[in-house]
Amino acid sequence: MEKDFNKNTTGNNMDYLISPVSISKQDKMSCYIHIPFCHVKCGYCHFHSYDESMLKNNIFLADREFIPLINKYIVKLDEEISFYSSILRLSGLTLHHEKIKLHTVYMEGRTPSILDPEQINRIYSSLLRNFDLSELKEWTIECNPRDISKEKLLLYKEIGITRISLGIQSLNKTDLEYIGRESIDVLNSKKIFSEQDILHQWDKIFHMLGKYFDSFSIDLLLGLSNFNFEDLKFFILRYKIPHISLYLLSLEGNENKYDIFTQEWDAIEERQVEQYSKIQSFFDEMGYEQYEISNFSINKNSRAKHNSHYWNDGRYIGVGANSSGYIDHYRYKNRELSEYLNLQWYLPQVDIGGSIFRWLNQNGYYGEFEFIDQETEKKEKIMLNLRTKEGLDLEDYHNKFGEDFCKIKKEKINDFIQKGMVEIRGKNLSIVPEYYLISNSIISELI
Ligand code: SF4
Repeated sequence: MEKDFNKNTTGNNMDYLISPVSISKQDKMSCYIHIPFCHVKCGYCHFHSYDESMLKNNIFLADREFIPLINKYIVKLDEEISFYSSILRLSGLTLHHEKIKLHTVYMEGRTPSILDPEQINRIYSSLLRNFDLSELKEWTIECNPRDISKEKLLLYKEIGITRISLGIQSLNKTDLEYIGRESIDVLNSKKIFSEQDILHQWDKIFHMLGKYFDSFSIDLLLGLSNFNFEDLKFFILRYKIPHISLYLLSLEGNENKYDIFTQEWDAIEERQVEQYSKIQSFFDEMGYEQYEISNFSINKNSRAKHNSHYWNDGRYIGVGANSSGYIDHYRYKNRELSEYLNLQWYLPQVDIGGSIFRWLNQNGYYGEFEFIDQETEKKEKIMLNLRTKEGLDLEDYHNKFGEDFCKIKKEKINDFIQKGMVEIRGKNLSIVPEYYLISNSIISELI
């Protein structure tokens, strides 16, 4: 039976016990779902994810078996999804007890394709029970190539998933070994060694993807020594990839674990800069639009709508261990898996006299929590918008904060314009793509 967190045990409406969540009717609401499980933990990975072997040695997790743990996790996801659905119904976005419309959904963190059909269906049912999915613009699921099968793709399509994001990282086996990531050889649990066999596997995967999905994306990692533009061109043309996301290797979390990065960091960084600069013109020549610092799409329709929602400072709930959300004026990050599994998501039965998010934080639900005051909101808007091709909409900024950004930062902006690093087109201020690599330093001078 659907839980209704708005009612107490006597059936009375509980609205008076917590402050309404403040969200304007213009705010679209998206949902990020974190699935912290992977087939094999990659050597370079600093994300919050577990593979089966890690469970055996984790003294903080009661369940050492993968399937029961994932099932327990999905119960918690359902609880949390229901909880946010209930508090959002108090937002004024809809009349009470109407479901909130979701704009986009993104399932990541890190291999949701590891879930079996029943587990995926349970997450879908939870979303459907708690939110209105009728106007969903995009639902992305991150997949490991080894999980792509006709059965899974058909299920994804059936429940309304619209976009597949495929973690490839590198087309070169030596590079994959270098970063400690399994290569496509492990598909179907058999060792495949010839290049022809590998190509055959990719053909099969992309044939299925193309058959069931118009919208898909691949992830690529920059900085590896065997990155080859000819191979990439062949791959992209052969499979007509609509969207590509770039990632950089990071030392974060790898300092001790993966010493090889520390030893070779200077060379890696040099390669990242070189490859990034080349890849911009490479994709440009192939007809891709760089619509964000790390993202390229073959046309406007293929842009990632969920991520665009982030870059346009949109609101979203994050559910699952270590996931982040931004609602009302609060940014939060959930607890990690071992703690997350012990949380009970319920509306307090006492008058908390204020914001439900503050209450959640005070009661240990969040690992990180921040109130976003107007100054922070301005900075975040500038930072996020300037990542995109469109940049910062000056008119929108003025309407929102009542101030003229160009006037306030006149000297800096003029200086950057003279140096050819930023430009104003119409009512938008943006960074010139040749300077994306130093965007952080440009942005830090503008905020
Ligand atoms: S697949 Fe992604 S999240 Fe999972 S271990 Fe590898 S890098 Fe980490």
